[in-house]
Order: sequence, then structure tokens, then C-alpha cells
Amino acid sequence: MTSSSPGDLRAALAAVLPSVRADLEQLVRIPSVSAAPEHADDVEASAEATRALFAAEGFDTQILRSGGGAPAVLAHKPGPPGTPTVLLYAHHDVQPEGDHDAWDSSPFEPTERDGRLYGRGAADDKAGIAAHLAAVRALGDALPVGVKVFVEGEEEIGSPTLEAFIGEHGSLLEADVIVIADSGNWDIGEPALTTRLRGLVRATLEVRTLRHGVHSGMFGGVVPDALMALTRVLASLHDDDGSVAVAGLVTSEAADVDYPEDRLAHESGLADGVRTIGTGSYVERMWTKPSLTVTGIDAPSTAAASNTLVPAATAMISMRIAPGDTCEAAFERLQEHVLAHAPWGAQVTLTYADGGDPTTLDATGPAYDAAREAMTAAWDGVAPIDMGVGGSIPFIATFADAFPQASVLVTGVEDPDTRAHGTNEGLHLAEWERACLAEVLLLARLGES
Ligand SMILES: [Zn+2]
Repeated sequence: MTSSSPGDLRAALAAVLPSVRADLEQLVRIPSVSAAPEHADDVEASAEATRALFAAEGFDTQILRSGGGAPAVLAHKPGPPGTPTVLLYAHHDVQPEGDHDAWDSSPFEPTERDGRLYGRGAADDKAGIAAHLAAVRALGDALPVGVKVFVEGEEEIGSPTLEAFIGEHGSLLEADVIVIADSGNWDIGEPALTTRLRGLVRATLEVRTLRHGVHSGMFGGVVPDALMALTRVLASLHDDDGSVAVAGLVTSEAADVDYPEDRLAHESGLADGVRTIGTGSYVERMWTKPSLTVTGIDAPSTAAASNTLVPAATAMISMRIAPGDTCEAAFERLQEHVLAHAPWGAQVTLTYADGGDPTTLDATGPAYDAAREAMTAAWDGVAPIDMGVGGSIPFIATFADAFPQASVLVTGVEDPDTRAHGTNEGLHLAEWERACLAEVLLLARLGES
């Protein structure tokens, strides 16, 4: 094939973007909420709509599933002999839309306001599908590399059958480079590659001090109640400055990224007068240090409160763990800590609920060089930062483990104000166009290498 110049590629993309935008809007109109059984037909419909879009670009397509899993779309179009194969990932299912009245426009009717396209899935992750579609439509029959497309239908419920799917159909997904378009950029005008993700451990902490509840007037002041003991254990989990006090958890290094305090306060919704917790740069605290949150407590509600010493109480502890740590090790450290901090001989039991290991991607090599070059060009000279993500995206580790020979690139179309999973989810259209351009340039670059 004759290789196209970056200018040709920009023009080819510009020519197809209006049609891709229309296809994106059609996808958003399908309420493919994977968590809601009543939307099962819509999840099937969004898979079929996605399949048809790639079939129309000359891809061999199929819809596959593993066991009782949601439908996934697979599409393949070979490249010139000797060129690498690139797998493009996205997901076609969406989060529940929540209360329609809380949206400024109907969640499943894509609506443009002030440069954003609003709708459930308009960004997460139907814009990821659309970015892949834009790239292959712009390149047409001059695909510089082999392209496989994998669009999952159950990411928003934690990809329950993804491992089984890879076990059954993994050979169809094999590639030299995997582009996962389901993360975000650092800010409007500032691209990012996501290279580190914290992991998660959730555990229930039960504290028991009495075999049964007793009159607080009779025994109060002489035997401890469970809430008294539980609050002490919970208070021991953080130092006075709010740093996690559990010994032995891993801390790793973060990229040197400036995240100003006013931006943090704005994006996190920090209430007036409230200070930040922990030490180190803000991005270290979010990406490469552990955090620990009490997300629920089972104890009598204030409405049901009686003058009784509560015999037992339970808290849910949600711990984010840094790249380099493991769920197993972090759970053990937490267990040692709570047992050592049980006051007055209170019976303390920590039970593992669920979790996922953190991920550190090897962000070096030719595919990363090509991606950095492509993104820098698409963002008019602004190079991507290596971004961490405080939350986990477990399937990234699944891909990295299943295809150890492939370079895994985590890109995306979200920005800090996308509100994925929230009401008024919206795609920043100009940034999305840059993401599409970066993908076209990346495929072209990979074809030359
Ligand atoms: Zn997503």
C-alpha cells in the first residue's frame, strides 16, 4: 500500500466524522443497561447494531458469548502481509441511567449542548466504539495494519464472563497491540495514557463485645458496647493527618503531574473549609498510595435506637491498594492491624468480601512510542502524560495477563467533567475528535513500524 501523509489522514477522518457521530447517536438511543434484566433485549440490540457498523466497513463480524454472558462483538479485517495486528477494545453496555428527572435532557436521546453530547453511554463507552469506527472508516480499504475489534457487553457489571470468554475465544483476540479505549484524558487539551491503576480490597469488620444486648442503665460504664469498640478500631485506621495507618501496605511512585488544589476541590466537591488528607502530591495520594474508606456500618439506626448496649456491629471497609501491592497481602496487613487494635479484648473478625489486584502496565516500547507520537500530533503538540487511575478497571489486568506478549495501551475519550456513570454524562466532542485522530495516526504509525 502507499502510505498516506498525516494531512491526508486528517482529511479522511474529517470526511467521515459526521457519519460516525450519527452512528454514535444511534448507539446512545439503545438503552443497553447490562445491570438491568429488563434491558437484556437492548443489550442484544446494541451488540447487533455495533456488529452491523463494523460489517459495513468490510469486517468479518460475529457475536459471541461465553456461558450465559452478555453478547460481545468481534470483528476482523486483515492488514497487509507482515504488518502487526491491533485489537481495539470498547464496551457497548452502559450503567443504569438513574433518575430521569435529574438529567437536563433525556438520557437515551443524545443532545448536544455547549460542545458536549449528553446521554448515557455518550462517552462511556459508546464513544470508544465510535472512535474505533472513525479510525477504520477513515482508513477504509487502506488499513495499514490488521485490525480486530472486540466490543464487550458486560463491562459495567464487572465483566463476569470475560476470563471464560478469553479462555474459549482467546485466539480470535490475539494481537500485537491492544488499544483499550475506556479511560480518559488528563484534562481538556491534555491527553493521557493510563498506565497504573490501584486495586481494591473490600472486607467486612465485625466487632462483638456482648453475647446479647443489655440495658445501658444497668451495665453501661462497666462492660463495653460494640459501637464503642468498633469506632475505636475504625479510628485507628488513619493517622491524625488522614494518612492510612495500616503498616506494610505498598506505596509506589507517581508521575510528576501538577494537580492544583482548586481543581481538586472543584472536581471532588470538597465542602467549604474542609482540608485534604494524607501526604505527598495529590496524584500520589490518588494513584500510588493506599486509601481506606468505611463505606457502610450495620448498627441500629437512630430511629431504632434504644437505651441498650449494642452487642455487635459491622463495618464495610473499602481499601484502594497501590500498584505493586496484592489483594492477598493487603488484606493480611489490614487483618493484622484490626486484630492488634481491638480494645478491651473485643472480638474482632475481618472477612474478605471481594477485590481486584492493582495494575502497572509496561509503558515502553514501539507501540507506546507510536501512541505518544500520535497523541502529541492529534493534540497539537501536547504530549500525553502517564496517568494513574485511583479506581480499578479489572479487565485491563485480565487482558495484560492473557496476552503477555502484546502491548496494552489504555486510552479513552473521557475528561474530568464527563460524569461517566452519573447524571448528565456528556462527551466533549472536540476532545473526542482528537481521540479519533490519534487512533488513525496510531494505526498508520504502527503500519510503518
Ligand atoms: Zn467504561
